[in-house]
Amino acid sequence: MKMGEVILVGAGPGDPGLMTVRGLEALSSAQVVVYDRLVSPAILSKIPETAEKINVGKRSSHHLVPQDQINQILLDKALEGKKVVRLKGGDPFLFGRGGEELELLAEHHVPFQEIPGITSAIAVPAYAGIPVTHRDFCSSVHIITGHQRAGMPLNIPFDALVGTKGTLVFLMGVSALPQICQGLLDAGMSPDMPAAVVEKGTTPSQRPILATLSTLPQKAAEEQVESPAIIVVGEVCTLNQQFDWFDRLPLKNQKIIVTRPKERAGTLAGRLRQLGADVTEFPCIETVPMIPCPPMEQALAQIDSYTWLAFTSPAGVSALMEHLDRTNRDVRALGRIHLAAIGPGTDRELRKHGLRADLIPEVYDGEHLGQALCQASPAGKVLILRAQWGTEALTQALDQGGIAYDDIRCYETKFTCPQAEEVRAMLNRDDPPTVTFTSASTVRGFAAAMGDFDPLSLVGACIGEQTRAAAELLDIPTITAEKATMDALIQVIEDHTN
Ligand code: SAH
Repeated sequence: MKMGEVILVGAGPGDPGLMTVRGLEALSSAQVVVYDRLVSPAILSKIPETAEKINVGKRSSHHLVPQDQINQILLDKALEGKKVVRLKGGDPFLFGRGGEELELLAEHHVPFQEIPGITSAIAVPAYAGIPVTHRDFCSSVHIITGHQRAGMPLNIPFDALVGTKGTLVFLMGVSALPQICQGLLDAGMSPDMPAAVVEKGTTPSQRPILATLSTLPQKAAEEQVESPAIIVVGEVCTLNQQFDWFDRLPLKNQKIIVTRPKERAGTLAGRLRQLGADVTEFPCIETVPMIPCPPMEQALAQIDSYTWLAFTSPAGVSALMEHLDRTNRDVRALGRIHLAAIGPGTDRELRKHGLRADLIPEVYDGEHLGQALCQASPAGKVLILRAQWGTEALTQALDQGGIAYDDIRCYETKFTCPQAEEVRAMLNRDDPPTVTFTSASTVRGFAAAMGDFDPLSLVGACIGEQTRAAAELLDIPTITAEKATMDALIQVIEDHTN
């Protein structure tokens, strides 16, 4: 049988954006993914649906799957001929036992690769505004494990470490924090040396706790710091006051649920994360082209009888293109027709196929698209390709302007509800999360997935009037973007937060 391969991949410290391009490439073609506790859900959501997922997550002091068994799983899957990705938090070779996992593979001549990750040892202090080195303060940085084997004393050379005058970063040190600080004091380090613990670094729940060597254990105990957390000891910790950028981001501590069609990339989610928001992606609808679609076929056969082809969503464009592709045709089947798009997102989808919208209304909704088509030159019959529940505002505007049209449903919107439980648990009247709605169908998809829910337990951030109307029909309190664009939607969320 063909031999498989194992790729050790560093998933970074928590923020899903901190995974390497190379690591994501490996993940996207994996057949088996073996992962543990420190890998964030947003990264796990990038695992291909077809891949087998094996959680060997370890909790401190009780190992779910013993190390030798993990090594064996990797070997067995590779011997079955599979492409195996072993995803590990941070960097696999830094206190990640990556070396141990490779030994058995090397013994059996299984091919492997190691894709380094961004380690928490450097990235977590960075997100807390602490550069691990700075010329004014130190000339070295030391990364130490604070893990204590059961019943054994801490095995840390405190004298040597204090002698370096470098920055000290302790991983796995939460339970031994008092002994670590005492060890450094006993070795002669000043009790006033700045020190910090950073809990759940680079994630939306990041919590930095700044103190001194002598006060840190008590402060950390008062704040009930939990693993994973990093301990940083050194003058550089004072820079946090100046450089604490992540915890000051405008949407920090804001819980946002991004509803979106399953097949659309999560750019909105990514942009909200960059602003510090705690984003949960919730693909609650799926758009499926209707194939075959006899009415569309008929319209295409008489394409010259139309002057305009109008799209009210990127999904309409994709459905048409898929239809053409499946019937061995391409955009030339559209002849010289003029193209209208409801907004820039739909125009972007056209551009992917080498086309451009000749008309985009000033306000990105059905009513304004209809009005713009009535005033367009040349004026003429409109072919509308859209979803089964398109807004009537478009066709009403065309009726009023006396413009003829054919309104053809070319794709369906289906509800899907993976993770519905997780999202339901986030809804809360006292601390309502913001839920983004980018179309009326995302509102309906959300409601269908939630079943019976309290509308006052969320705030709907809506992209436009029709979306807002759909949310208000369900009594959901809303905020609405000034313009139907992602930029304006993000802006209204920011304004609402401040
Ligand atoms: N290979 C990993 C480290 C594994 S050891 C890396 O390179 O980052 C696990 C320890 O890493 C935890 O006990 C904690 O000290 C630290 N750690 C990992 N992720 C962290 C995070 N998001 N915030 C704070 N500490 C983290």
